[in-house]
Amino acid sequence: MPENLGEKLALVGIGKIARDQHLPAIGANPDWSLEATVSRHGTVEGVEHFTDIDALLETRPDITTVSLAIPPQPRFDYAAKALKAGRNVMLEKPPGQSLAECYALEALAKENGVTLFATWHSRYADCVPDLKAWVSSRRIERLQITWKEDVRRWHPGQDWIWAPGGMGVFDPGINALSILTEILPYPVHVTAATLEFPENRDTPIAAALTFADPTGADMSAVFDWRQEGPQTWDIDIETDGGTAKLSLGGEKLEIDGELVKQGANHEYANLYARMASLLKAGESDMDLSPMIHVCDAFSLGRRAVTDPFHF
Ligand code: NAP
Repeated sequence: MPENLGEKLALVGIGKIARDQHLPAIGANPDWSLEATVSRHGTVEGVEHFTDIDALLETRPDITTVSLAIPPQPRFDYAAKALKAGRNVMLEKPPGQSLAECYALEALAKENGVTLFATWHSRYADCVPDLKAWVSSRRIERLQITWKEDVRRWHPGQDWIWAPGGMGVFDPGINALSILTEILPYPVHVTAATLEFPENRDTPIAAALTFADPTGADMSAVFDWRQEGPQTWDIDIETDGGTAKLSLGGEKLEIDGELVKQGANHEYANLYARMASLLKAGESDMDLSPMIHVCDAFSLGRRAVTDPFHF
């Protein structure tokens, strides 16, 4: 039996994703011991609570890993403080609000000899490794990402997502891009984008991207936050050896119209297992390829103004 790490962890930002996913995943993994939380308003019963990260870092030197489940805008300051204090850091996606922030964190982790993990939870969905293996022996002819959801349902009242650095519809869209960059055997790049901004908001509510594929495949993505009713998180692929459909954000895989796998949600359990293995190996994982596509879409994107958005 492998030895449990018994790693002492602090969880920062007791909000939606912390409660929905991080707390159950930490609680179920014996490698982790949740010792403290940092949140200005939220607490977890029975766990020591801090309202600012400085107090945590000063008074609990025994806590060696800090997991940040806060929005991207404040994340750099929290992560930089934790890394400078010699703590290992796990970053919710996206790993920062700009690429330069991410590179600076990577450098800080190296300087301080600690582990830094840019988590991409969708990559850890059950069917992503199966799709990656299937794609690896085929030539892609066409790939279409369709990520359409209802922002009012998934992000109720979250103003940060509409503020600069919040990324708007790329907040879920980057999940699709994290799967794309995981399954493709080679890099692609964005060649054009259209971004629809509500006239009263600073981030897009919808986006359409096209990619250049070095083998000539037709590759594109549409992200839209205005979809009511059934929600769509699909990647459709046509190859020289059949078709694949990944749906439910990576939980379901069909090949040539036949269901080959229907998984369940193990994404955050897999993320905390991965962080434990990075610590054991003394390594970091800071793949920024999904973030590069988002930054390029903002750089190349044609801006269109659309109806105002109100919660
Ligand atoms: P959230 O509930 O709005 O925020 C999480 C917590 O962060 C808040 O409860 C708040 O706690 C703290 N926070 C908010 N603004 C802050 C600020 N300016 N400075 C310091 N702390 C602040 O957001 P969330 O949905 O959990 O998302 C957090 C991150 O997880 C995002 O990067 C998101 O992309 C990612 N994520 C979310 C989901 C999802 O389904 N919601 C899924 C996967 C990943 P206090 O006010 O108590 O400090």
